Formats: sequence, C-alpha cells, structure tokens
Amino acid sequence: MLRLPRLRYLRPSSAREAAAAAAELGPRAMLVAGGTDLFPKLKRRQMDPDTLVGLGHLGDLRQVRGDAAAGFALGALVTLSEAAAHPALAAAHPGYAEAAGLVSSPPLRNVGTIGGNLCVDTRCNYYDMTYEWRRSIGFCMKKDGDICLVAPGSPRCWAVSSSDTAPVAIALGATVTLAGPDGEREAPVAALYRDDGIDYLAKAPHEVVTALRLPAAAGVRSAYVKLRRRGSIDFPIAGAGVALELDGRTVAWARIVLSGVGSQPVEAPAAGELLAGRELTPEVVTEAAELAARPAKPLDNADLAHFWRKRMVRVVVEDAIRKAAARG
Ligand SMILES: Cc1cc2nc3c(=O)[nH]c(=O)nc-3n(C[C@H](O)[C@H](O)[C@H](O)COP(=O)(O)OP(=O)(O)OC[C@H]3O[C@@H](n4cnc5c(N)ncnc54)[C@H](O)[C@@H]3O)c2cc1C
Ligand code: SF4
Repeated sequence: MLRLPRLRYLRPSSAREAAAAAAELGPRAMLVAGGTDLFPKLKRRQMDPDTLVGLGHLGDLRQVRGDAAAGFALGALVTLSEAAAHPALAAAHPGYAEAAGLVSSPPLRNVGTIGGNLCVDTRCNYYDMTYEWRRSIGFCMKKDGDICLVAPGSPRCWAVSSSDTAPVAIALGATVTLAGPDGEREAPVAALYRDDGIDYLAKAPHEVVTALRLPAAAGVRSAYVKLRRRGSIDFPIAGAGVALELDGRTVAWARIVLSGVGSQPVEAPAAGELLAGRELTPEVVTEAAELAARPAKPLDNADLAHFWRKRMVRVVVEDAIRKAAARG
C-alpha cells in the first residue's frame, strides 16, 4: 500500500494568508484543495513538499454567485459535482457544466474542486507512476531525472495538460481571480498556462485561485466532448471545448480549445476564423474540425496510440461544434 509522507498541514484563515504562507515556504509548500490529484501524487513521491497549505476549509470560496444575465462568479472551492449540477449555470453555460460533470468519477467530483481542476498537474505515462517504477527506468526530467523519456533529444517536458474544464472556460472567455500575499489580480484563464510540461502554470506557485468568472450567457452556446478509454473515470486523451454564437444559421464567432493534446490547453484560432461568417453546413463543420486538429500534437505518453488520438481530435471537434450549435 502506498502511504502519504509525513507532512505539516496549515489551515490559514484566508486565501491571502494561504498565499503568504506558501510564498514564505517556497518549494517546501504546496497548496491543496480537494486533494484528489495531489494526494495520490504525494503517495507516489511525484513531488516532495514538507508542508501542505490547506484551502478546503475556506467556506467563502465555495459559493456560486450571479446569473445568466450578469455572468457567474464561482468560488475556487466549489466542487465539480456542484458546478455540474447547478441549474442556472448548466442552463447558461452547458459546456462548462458538462465538462465539470465529465471529470473522473462521482466520488472524486464530490471532493475535487473547480480551482484544483484548473491547476491540475500535467500527465505522462512515464511520470504518473510509483517512485520505484520511475527509479527502475532512471527517472525523467519532470521529477528526479534529467532527460525526457518520450523525446530523449528534447530539452523540454511534454507532459499533457489534462484539465477537462479549462478548454471550455477558455473558449467562453472566462477569467480567474488570483490572490497573493499583497492583494488580488484578475487574469484570463487562457493566460494561466504555459506550453511546458513542468512549469505549466503561468502564475507564481504561491498564488491562490480564488474564483472563476464566466461571462453573461447572452446568446452564447457551448459544449465539451471528451474522449477517454473508460467513460467512468479516465482523464481526457482528446477533448474539445467549443463556444459560439449564431446569427440565424450563420456563425457570428466561434472559439475552439482542445484538451489532452499538448502541455497546455490548445487553442485552434484558425478553425474559429473559418467558422465566423459561414453557415454551419456539414461541410463547413468538417473543414473547421480539420483545421482545429492541426495544432494538436499528441505524443506517445498517454493512453491509446498517439496517431489514433490525433485522428480522433477531428471527430471530437465536429461533435462539439454540432452539439453547441444545437443548443438554444
Ligand atoms: C483516478 C483519477 C481520475 C481523474 N480523472 C480526471 C479527469 O478525467 N479529468 C480531470 O480534469 N481531472 C481528473 N483527475 C484529477 C482531479 O481529480 C481533478 O482535476 C480535480 O478537479 C482536482 O481538484 P482538487 O481540488 O482535488 O485539486 P488538488 O488535488 O487539491 O490540487 C491539484 C493541484 O492544484 C493546485 N491547487 C488546488 N487548488 C488550488 C487553488 N485554489 N489555487 C491554486 N492552486 C490550487 C494544487 O497545489 C495541486 O497542484 C483525476 C484524478 C484521479 C485520481
Ligand atoms: S514528457 Fe518526458 S520529461 Fe515530461 S514527464 Fe514525460 S517522460 Fe518525463
């Protein structure tokens, strides 16, 4: 049985205090919300902090405020189950609610938070293994080693961004509130990520995500389609978040963002540009999906064959465009 290492657990009284504690301890500390991603990784010694700065008890970060007309502010500690089942949120932004409802399995969604889902670690078959397994192959540069086992000549890590909710949040133009020791700042969710499997978040490690802001619904239609081996639990191996607006049968604008095919959520701006101003015929949807698949670069470090995953990106994008458009 894998056990957690011995850890100190802090219970700060606010997000700002949490950020201050994490900043003071530097790499010795990690923030923890639901712990559904972090605790298994600590058991496998994929990271080795000596202190956890707990957020789970901060009740003021567990509220959903707003409505379809004004937009929504979701506290970072809202659970995935709560986000998926919130009637007004699901009616206004069905793509976001369905992405939250497709994460993992019901027990993990009851504990896992929407903030933790935005910050979830990148994944790789050579990294999401026990310490002993990783030692047996000489480790890799994401933890304890110095080369990439997927692309040994590469100077960087290609671990895969696997958040289900980030693509739709980006497609919808959502923002996050980040608390630091000295105050708060607002940033687009799109600006939260870096194309780097190790340093995948473009925020200071001590900054706490306190809220996710989704815009007013105002005619926006959205959908998320996810491909995975087992529908009951697995991470995405290809996913598409789509937001679009229709003017009659013509697309006013569209934004498509992919999951599971790069070290950050991958935007497909050329596909959005192709759709804008066009009638949504089956041929146009297929053409847009072809374009959207181009920036997807699945490697041989996730479940199922990477060349098949690449081909399937087109399929999930087509499904997501059709599903979003069909929603009133
Ligand atoms: C078997 C299994 C299947 C899974 N399947 C999926 C899946 O299909 N899709 C998917 O997206 N995820 C999946 N996950 C990962 C995880 O359950 C979810 O991503 C969940 O939303 C993480 O939220 P959490 O609150 O538990 O995060 P935690 O585990 O507490 O934290 C995750 C990371 O985010 C950081 N963090 C957490 N909250 C904040 C915050 N408010 N501000 C700043 N940093 C923060 C932590 O420091 C840590 O690095 C799976 C996990 C397991 C074990
Ligand atoms: S992509 Fe390479 S460096 Fe990154 S976790 Fe996988 S094997 Fe390690």
